[in-house]
Amino acid sequence: MPARRPLVAANWKLNGNRDSNARLVDELLSGLDNSLLVEVLVCPPFVYLSELAARLEGTVVMLGAQDVCAEAEGAFTGEISAAMLREVGARWAILGHSERRALYAEGDDLVARKFAAAQLGGLTPILCVGETLQERESGRTLEVVGRQLEAVLDHCGVAALQNAVVAYEPVWAIGTGKTATPDEAQEVHAAIRRMVAARDDRIGGGLRILYGGSVKGANAGSLFSMPDIDGGLIGGASLKAAEFLDICCAAAGQ
Ligand code: PEP
Repeated sequence: MPARRPLVAANWKLNGNRDSNARLVDELLSGLDNSLLVEVLVCPPFVYLSELAARLEGTVVMLGAQDVCAEAEGAFTGEISAAMLREVGARWAILGHSERRALYAEGDDLVARKFAAAQLGGLTPILCVGETLQERESGRTLEVVGRQLEAVLDHCGVAALQNAVVAYEPVWAIGTGKTATPDEAQEVHAAIRRMVAARDDRIGGGLRILYGGSVKGANAGSLFSMPDIDGGLIGGASLKAAEFLDICCAAAGQ
């Protein structure tokens, strides 16, 4: 089984502007050691992709989008297709983030169609899954995460997971300062891997599964040391270069 290279992805959400984005990536680039054995990716708001693609060209930092339209073209006002995102430099797309699921009513079927559209348009999906506090407290974590994952497996087939990443993000940990303990996160990561491995052992074993939810420099090392945690999807802490660089070092095991 090839080793799974750690990945740290920054979700900037609805933050930043031209100047602050430029400052942030410049600080990241000057702090990132090229020999670091970790992949790093930033996902700014759509409108900044193009200029950040130019700034990041030839560097180790990759570029992703925070969402994608499930359709390739047509009468879908306000939407942006995977091919358009790819054309302006994105190579990855976050899909099914809990904020999209909760605030924009994105259900499992739509997320699965977005996953397929992203791959068709040449983007690597980062599929977010995770339970609410109420679901965790009622013992339904694995059922909820399983349902979210199976929707994609059923729609796209297990082979689609060869070129994708899953991010386990407990909703109660996102932006709250509460983090799943390494053991809590590991339990869900291992379950996700088992679900995929049940359909294809090799793909399950090679799947990169990120943890997201109030990751900081101070807690990243203990989370990333767990056997099924292959890196992180980072929100708030990705807006501070020093903090994000600490997280990247932790993912690289340094
Ligand atoms: C996220 O938005 O995906 C996230 C994990 O946010 P935070 O790190 O701020 O909890």
